Amino acid sequence: MTQDRKRIVVLGGGESGVGAAVLAKVKGFDVFLSDQKTLKEEYLNTLKQWEIAYEEGGHSSELILNADEVIKSPGIPSTAPMVQAIREKGIHIISEIEFASRYDNAKKICITGSNGKTTTTSLIHYLLQDAGLNVGLGGNIGTSYALQVATQKHDYYVLEISSFQLDDCYEFRPDIAIITNITPDHLDRYNHKMENYVKAKWRITQNMREEDCFIFNSDDAITIDSLSQIVLKAKMLPFTQKGIVEQGAFVSEDKMVVRYEQDESWMYLNELALGGKHNLYNSMAAALAAKASGISNEVIRESLMSFKGIEHRLEKVLSVGDVLYINDSKATNVDAAWYALEAQTRPVVWIVGGTDKGNDYSVLGELVKQKVKAIVCLGVDNSRIHAAFEDIVGKDNIADTLSAEQAVLKASEFSAAGDVVLLSPCCASFDLFKNYEDRGRQFKDAVRKL
Ligand code: ADP
Repeated sequence: MTQDRKRIVVLGGGESGVGAAVLAKVKGFDVFLSDQKTLKEEYLNTLKQWEIAYEEGGHSSELILNADEVIKSPGIPSTAPMVQAIREKGIHIISEIEFASRYDNAKKICITGSNGKTTTTSLIHYLLQDAGLNVGLGGNIGTSYALQVATQKHDYYVLEISSFQLDDCYEFRPDIAIITNITPDHLDRYNHKMENYVKAKWRITQNMREEDCFIFNSDDAITIDSLSQIVLKAKMLPFTQKGIVEQGAFVSEDKMVVRYEQDESWMYLNELALGGKHNLYNSMAAALAAKASGISNEVIRESLMSFKGIEHRLEKVLSVGDVLYINDSKATNVDAAWYALEAQTRPVVWIVGGTDKGNDYSVLGELVKQKVKAIVCLGVDNSRIHAAFEDIVGKDNIADTLSAEQAVLKASEFSAAGDVVLLSPCCASFDLFKNYEDRGRQFKDAVRKL
């Protein structure tokens, strides 16, 4: 342990903040954690166990503005008064990811993007584990990266990184970086300017070197457009469903082909465990990350075939009377719902709605026309959904509900054998539920009660 008594203040006492505080303690800093809200019991216990000084229910300037460096949790916006006061004092603010990476020599595969982060991150972690590597999973998923760096030893990390975490990264450098796609989301945190959000995503590549790999979706217009405006030394590995690439992944007839250095491998699309076009992109990204990590084609193929998927992402719940119920509660924006609808091959009764983040529903019109026979709105204010789709499905085939149970009952009335009931809400969940997980679980409980 070093005896450097630099003072580190951590703002925010959730998974990331508490992990950062533990790491700072382990590294011998004078640590103080401050949260405006009350802390969850498990985090309080961790702080006590590690004898870390903290406050909850408010910020005390005199205990914060004497910091040498501040670690800010991603949930706190840069407009928060305390953050502004810290900046005015000229104190350096970093993210937990930036801090933890200072003490970690493991190879890092880092995934950002608007949609598909968790799926791609989990898939890559699964692949690396299958290959027998000592690999940690972190970032926005599970145990924080900082806590793992403090208490465990891994040779590899697979990290899901949100744009909020990237905002406060400076020296952080992934060995392999992936941008899954860039579509409008979270614009409220970026002054409603898409370019600010796009810039935040690209920070993932800012320190990459020639020996590193950058994996990206070359079908994604915003990615390609912004790529032309930056200088990037890393080896480029695009994935596409629209053409052929020299290096990277693409589709040829019924196969996914991966080209990496001198090697070319392929597997049948229908062998992939995860269905839908969006998951094909995710599988391609994962296969490239695994290739670039030296994993054999056999392991990649077997892992992509056996991966079980994750809760709340096109999760098949149950068939009742030959109606398949699918939980895609994590589809909190239009793009995610687009892929969910696109992936369906049976007539769809679509459960949609919640807190609308300023959605443009018009891009879904064509898919709704082709695939959706009825709509069950699940939200407090469904007026924009009615306006967008009532004419397409017909007034008698759209209904309003205020609970998961009502929504499932209504959907079962609308459906017939051979149909799919798809919860893919396009919206956040906070009007009726605690979060998207709560919405997904209540949906599944209601299905099981049918
Ligand atoms: P994230 O962690 O970026 O929110 P998830 O993997 O949790 O992404 O998936 C979120 C939602 O987006 C799910 O509804 C999922 O079906 C959908 N989705 C997953 N991958 C993609 C992709 N590559 N493009 C568009 N939508 C996707």
